[in-house]
Amino acid sequence: MTPNQTLVNEGKDMTHSRRALGCLLLAGLLVGTSPGSMAIANAGSQDQSLGIQSTVSLPSHAQGNPPPWSGKAFRQGVVAVANPYAAEAGAQILEDGGNAVDAAVAIAYALNVVEPQSAGIGGGGFMMIHLAETGETVAIDSRERAPAGATPDMFVGVPNPSLQGVAVGVPGMVRGTEMALERYGNLSLTRTLQPAIKLADAGFAATPRYSEASCSSRARNSPETEAYFCPGGVPPAVGSLVQNKPLAETFRLIATNGADCFYVYMPEKGCDIAKGIVEGQRFNRPQAPNGKGGSMTFADLENYQATLRTPVESTYRGYKIRAMSSPSSGGLTVTQMLKMLERLPIGDESQGFGFGSTKTVNVMVDAMRLAFADRSVWMGDSDFVPEPSRGLLHPDYVALRGAEIVPGARITPNPTPGDPRPFEDPDAEAGTLIPTAEPVTGPGETTTHFSVIDKWGNLVSYTNTIESGHGIGVFAGYRGTAASFRNFGFLLNNELTDFNLTPTVNPYTGGPGFNDVQPGKRPRSSMTPTLILTPDGKPLVAFGSPGGSTIINSVFNVALNLIDHKMTIQDAIDAPRVSVTSAASSVSLENGFPQGTVDGLRGLGYTVSTGADIGSVQAVVVDPKTGKQYGGADSRREGTVIGLPRPRSS
Ligand code: GLU
Repeated sequence: MTPNQTLVNEGKDMTHSRRALGCLLLAGLLVGTSPGSMAIANAGSQDQSLGIQSTVSLPSHAQGNPPPWSGKAFRQGVVAVANPYAAEAGAQILEDGGNAVDAAVAIAYALNVVEPQSAGIGGGGFMMIHLAETGETVAIDSRERAPAGATPDMFVGVPNPSLQGVAVGVPGMVRGTEMALERYGNLSLTRTLQPAIKLADAGFAATPRYSEASCSSRARNSPETEAYFCPGGVPPAVGSLVQNKPLAETFRLIATNGADCFYVYMPEKGCDIAKGIVEGQRFNRPQAPNGKGGSMTFADLENYQATLRTPVESTYRGYKIRAMSSPSSGGLTVTQMLKMLERLPIGDESQGFGFGSTKTVNVMVDAMRLAFADRSVWMGDSDFVPEPSRGLLHPDYVALRGAEIVPGARITPNPTPGDPRPFEDPDAEAGTLIPTAEPVTGPGETTTHFSVIDKWGNLVSYTNTIESGHGIGVFAGYRGTAASFRNFGFLLNNELTDFNLTPTVNPYTGGPGFNDVQPGKRPRSSMTPTLILTPDGKPLVAFGSPGGSTIINSVFNVALNLIDHKMTIQDAIDAPRVSVTSAASSVSLENGFPQGTVDGLRGLGYTVSTGADIGSVQAVVVDPKTGKQYGGADSRREGTVIGLPRPRSS
């Protein structure tokens, strides 16, 4: 990133300094550029190294060429998705009269086909919806739940539990999308499933990312997934045809019979998906001794319900921020970080701050360390534990915690969790502070985030996951007669390993850790679908990211880039990110920070690693004054923006 760079805007090449663009942002004129950032090689070519000839061409916007409409403002809707085919599915639904929720549902199912390693109907997520008519923002929680038979010690002594059936949570996506359409959609589930059915049936051309992921050890965890993703030990060549007929059939069952066909075993109607889930999650990893299957029953599936949530709402430098609430830790954690830094002139280069300076990264990192320390003790599924969400964001508590941040110094010793309860409840007792270790899920192939705006100004910010790349590496399915396998074509999640893997004690309450396993509970998430709104509540940006606990930091980085550093949405996404996900761990920097910053941080006592790959942010932007819409996509994955109307030539 250079301070001055050529941006394509409204079809003209214009050179702006960030500061000039910042003035536009401050004026409420969020100017987005959408180069449809694709890091995709030409799919028409042969991959000599694999000796497999490509048979299918990628669509033009997936060949590394920015779509011809990039950089323009739109009025009929924009989708920003981490995969070109799924983006296309969403765009088509918008063109056919669907709203942002309809498009989001179509994208989510399409992603199950083209990005199966990241998300799908075997998992769950959070769909944040902003309704133009009322100005209300709601979130549909389709996070997986622990089955009734789950216990806090169910992972103890289990080798590689994230590769075993015991890790599978009751999937939520189908109920979540059903709820979204029933409450806020224009179209039916049957209609919104059509693009995904077509993709699964007719196939798509393997993208580089699909191909790269396909022979991971997780993808090969079971014989059926190995045969599908990595036949003969070779991943599908980029550009070669990938079909998933079993998944097309599963989607047809849901399209014909509704969501109940997924959650209720009704063989008389042909609905046997539930049997495939229950049998699939009994998987004992054959490669390891002492494997452990899950305890999920038909009753667990029948009892699953999606939940409507209110996002965490706060402000940062006047802008309203709405981000995902419990069972995600994302909203509270990112809001704490922002509020702790609000007293500092983060954007002011003349005071040593500004993007990427040692001083800026130093205070960002310490805000992360403080907030993640609190997260480790105080955040969990608030339907089950008394998460002190008001105390954690109380201005006095945030000021107390934030006072530990001193520009030019590293908080030493490592920050410990604070006690927000007195700020929540004046009668609560203070306790002993102990640091808590935080397991980290890396970015890689996991999870997917996309954002949508429609012509009416409704927005969706949706993060969806099966947890690790390829989940537990097992398809839902069951064995029939003669050893045949009834395959449903979708991967089962390993979401329950987002719980504490061993029973813990909350150091303040003396009771079980807030994120310990409990039957019916949802594991604490980091997924952070987020909206930034004007001070008077008009939406500006919808965004989010995958990346395990780094998700929260990707959202934090991008929020600062927009609000403090006054970048356009595309610059804010492209800029290198910094992340640390516990008080004690080392600082990860993406390439692109000045060497002086790397050295400066080391000089302050941080352990720093460079070359990280943090998140994949897809965003849509709307200018509240003009109604013009923009998108931003992340080249860290196969981010694609499609804006409407499309030019006639495309
Ligand atoms: N399961 C993770 C969570 O909910 C997301 C996984 C990832 O993005 O890597 O926080």
